Amino acid sequence: MTDAAARARDAEARVAREGLRRARRLVIKIGSKSLAGDAWDRLAAEVHALLGGKAGRSIVIVSSGAIALGIGKLGFPSRPKDMARLQAAAAAGQSVLMQRYEEAFGKLMIPVAQVLLTHADLADRARTNNARNALAALLEAGAVPIINENDAVAVDEIKFGDNDQLAAMVTPLCEADLLLLLSDVEGLLDGDRKRVPFIKSVAREARHLAGDSTSGVGTGGMSSKVEAARRATLAGANVVIASAREPGIVGRVRAGEDVGTLFAAVPQRISARKHWIAYTLRPRGAVLVDRGAAAAIAGGDRSVLAVGVLGVRGTFLPGDAVAIVDPEGVELARGLARLSASDAARLARKKRDEPGEDVVVHKDDLVVLPVD
Ligand code: GLU
Repeated sequence: MTDAAARARDAEARVAREGLRRARRLVIKIGSKSLAGDAWDRLAAEVHALLGGKAGRSIVIVSSGAIALGIGKLGFPSRPKDMARLQAAAAAGQSVLMQRYEEAFGKLMIPVAQVLLTHADLADRARTNNARNALAALLEAGAVPIINENDAVAVDEIKFGDNDQLAAMVTPLCEADLLLLLSDVEGLLDGDRKRVPFIKSVAREARHLAGDSTSGVGTGGMSSKVEAARRATLAGANVVIASAREPGIVGRVRAGEDVGTLFAAVPQRISARKHWIAYTLRPRGAVLVDRGAAAAIAGGDRSVLAVGVLGVRGTFLPGDAVAIVDPEGVELARGLARLSASDAARLARKKRDEPGEDVVVHKDDLVVLPVD
């Protein structure tokens, strides 16, 4: 990078940091490894300082820690490998986890509320709306929702992946403008193990640094955090990855101090509904489109019409999420199907005889994925 480019970038980072001072709704995700000893008291003090009588500010916590606490409580010698005992540990640990929050936040007169979610809840529009309304009512009442995955009933296919991903889905759900991913690392590190202060483009600047390491108790790892950061920035939130060990970290991030790694919100965020279609729902199948259709779709504001469809994969029904794939096999968009897989395949086959305007995915339900 030239000196001028480096200066321009520093200036950009400074402006982005300063923007954090205006954050009003904050999601704090905290990992298992960071929750021990007086961690809850420190977190409560930070939340208290931030909320402290200031109208219009609210905080949502996404907290791991149930499994780690449950392992000790049930006397398991180590983290179980089988699903049933993991779920047992989560169930036993979740009540201890909430007790820790109750005690620490209760001392400061901050009401907390447990919200347990599974991916199946957020993949359902009605249940998502219920969750959104419940969260809004809690915040309105001045409470701090403590969200975790409902591990005791979540098996692989309905799992979020991990709490970093859960936090990325919760961010648009509660219209947060700042997501803080707290763990035991000071941020994203470069090849010389130095903290990267600012990321503008995840694909160009961050992905290769994140690798795919995982980190012991949490299943997260840096690549999961970077992906969560990318998704939350697309919803219009700034995201900071920082260390839970740094004293006063929440207040310092919000004050615009140069700590952790800041991922800047995209200037043109996608709506909560489109974010849900692209990043919460899991595609049930794929619609393969020809080159012309792919170019039109990528250009934006176009529906997927049967005339451009080469074929389908999977067995989806109307309303299911599908991936839109170009002839090279690259997924370029996601959307909600208007037709079932069999109807879409049939229309695609007969289109030559009866060209029509059959809509496979309507543009209102279609999200072009960023090339980034
Ligand atoms: N839900 C898990 C727990 O409370 C943690 C999952 C994660 O950290 O990603 O232990």
